[in-house]
Amino acid sequence: MSVRLQNYVSDKWVDGDGDGAVLINPVTGAEVARATTDGVDMESALRHGRMVGGPALRAMTFAERAALLSAMGDVLIANRDRYFDIARENSGNTKIDATIDVDGGSGTLKYYGAIGKGLGDATVMRDGGLERFGKDDTFQAVHLRVPVEGVAIHINAFNFPSWGMWEKVACAFLAGVPVLAKPATATALLSHEMISDVVGANILPAGALSLICGSAGDLLDHVDRRDAIAFTGSAETARRLRTHPRVVEGAVRFNAETDSVNSSILGEDTSPGSPEFDLFVREVAREMTVKSGQKCTAIRRALVPVALMDAVTEALVARLGRTVVGDPADENVTMGPVVDHTQRRNVLDAIGRLKAEAQVITGDALDVVGADAEAGAFIAPTLLRCDDPEGATAVHEVEAFGPVSTLMPYTSAEEAFALAGAGGGSLVASVFTANDLFAQNAVLGLGDSHGRVLVIDEAVGKLSTGHGIVMPMCVHGGPGRAGGGEELGGLRGLRFYQQRLAMQGNKDRVMALADAAVEIAV
Ligand code: NAP
Repeated sequence: MSVRLQNYVSDKWVDGDGDGAVLINPVTGAEVARATTDGVDMESALRHGRMVGGPALRAMTFAERAALLSAMGDVLIANRDRYFDIARENSGNTKIDATIDVDGGSGTLKYYGAIGKGLGDATVMRDGGLERFGKDDTFQAVHLRVPVEGVAIHINAFNFPSWGMWEKVACAFLAGVPVLAKPATATALLSHEMISDVVGANILPAGALSLICGSAGDLLDHVDRRDAIAFTGSAETARRLRTHPRVVEGAVRFNAETDSVNSSILGEDTSPGSPEFDLFVREVAREMTVKSGQKCTAIRRALVPVALMDAVTEALVARLGRTVVGDPADENVTMGPVVDHTQRRNVLDAIGRLKAEAQVITGDALDVVGADAEAGAFIAPTLLRCDDPEGATAVHEVEAFGPVSTLMPYTSAEEAFALAGAGGGSLVASVFTANDLFAQNAVLGLGDSHGRVLVIDEAVGKLSTGHGIVMPMCVHGGPGRAGGGEELGGLRGLRFYQQRLAMQGNKDRVMALADAAVEIAV
């Protein structure tokens, strides 16, 4: 049965006009929901957030805002099993895929609830200590961070309808800023159900949270300088939105998390059978198949010492051969479909472009368990090999947003770091090595072009959260191609929703405000 998603604006559930966009079950191709925002008054939705939600959240202490996050996390945890079913029906998620998305959402809310509690009764932050200007200390300054007085507009990608939404809400709410969430239409069912449960639990102040399901319509025509737009999606859409006249005229805050051709490097010191070699092979295969490769952080390029190319190829082919593609309702299935047929076409087109520079090692044959391969949006895990990565361009530029990765050789550490940088700026790189010097050189060599570098040796192989998993305590974002944005990173994640100001004045007045604010060390 298909459900019709509603929009939650100005503290009311409203239906949009018209038939709406169709959301499908990517396993069968059947319709599961419809979504439309036609006729929804975006201007008054934003005004309501600014006039009602903002003042209510700003009046709360950090500890009170943190309690809200924690209570929202509890609501999500209580409904976890139902969300897993929805993630399977509308995203084709396996249980592991759904765990990353659903538990990632509640876990991030809980994490920010815990660190926010520690900020206590303050309502604003102090950035550093008092600054004096000369011998006489009567005139001094302090840097404060206050919440912006607009709405946090969250435009999200289809691959994480839970985590992608709640990680942003957590930071905005803790900063004291109301949210209007716009999930990607294709998978909005899960976001809709979660927000519906949170609203139903009656824990939020009026005006704090709004949701639109379907097109953004004329939303951006109504933003102003007080708002903060956090976008996740393709680089092309980010470019269009950040150059919207209202965004440009108002110098509206705009954070972009976009596509990224991430890499993983196997160290020169490794050999077949060494712990780091095996961990690398496991991670590349896992990154290709978890969420059917639809993670912005997934390993798209696997860089291998030239002498190890054949050994890695063989080990990866063997590992990928154990992948069971099909209906995630079947417990033997380890990889579901991609999100819909459009996305399947996009991935197959991208593989076609990669093939101009790389050969397919495995992925031409597709066996599907428990579902019709054509009715569903299935793709075989596809491993390519490019033996001349220095002379290639597509393998560094084309993001096949599915179960796809390209192996490529390098001949020196410097070449490996330069090839990783050829992605034009990425969210994450990982390095598998037992050699401390190689590890340190990698971090410094990759630092300028990456937001996160994961360094793996045997000691942390089992403890590691993995190449593609974004943890709330670490910064998420990357330069250039990856959008140039930054999210999360503990309290660093609040900065986007805060205005930093220098207060200058009489020492006593400066100290009074400085004492009332909570000092943070980020
Ligand atoms: P997308 O097509 O760029 O869409 C992203 C969001 O933008 C969706 O909510 C979409 O809404 C919305 N949108 C599109 N046109 C718009 C407009 N004119 N005004 C306002 N909103 C608009 O990206 P996607 O296909 O959903 O996501 C896949 C991409 O996201 C991949 O390239 C992936 O790498 C990237 N991604 C990056 C991260 C990260 O953290 N860096 C995380 C996840 C995904 P509709 O759905 O209604 O069109």
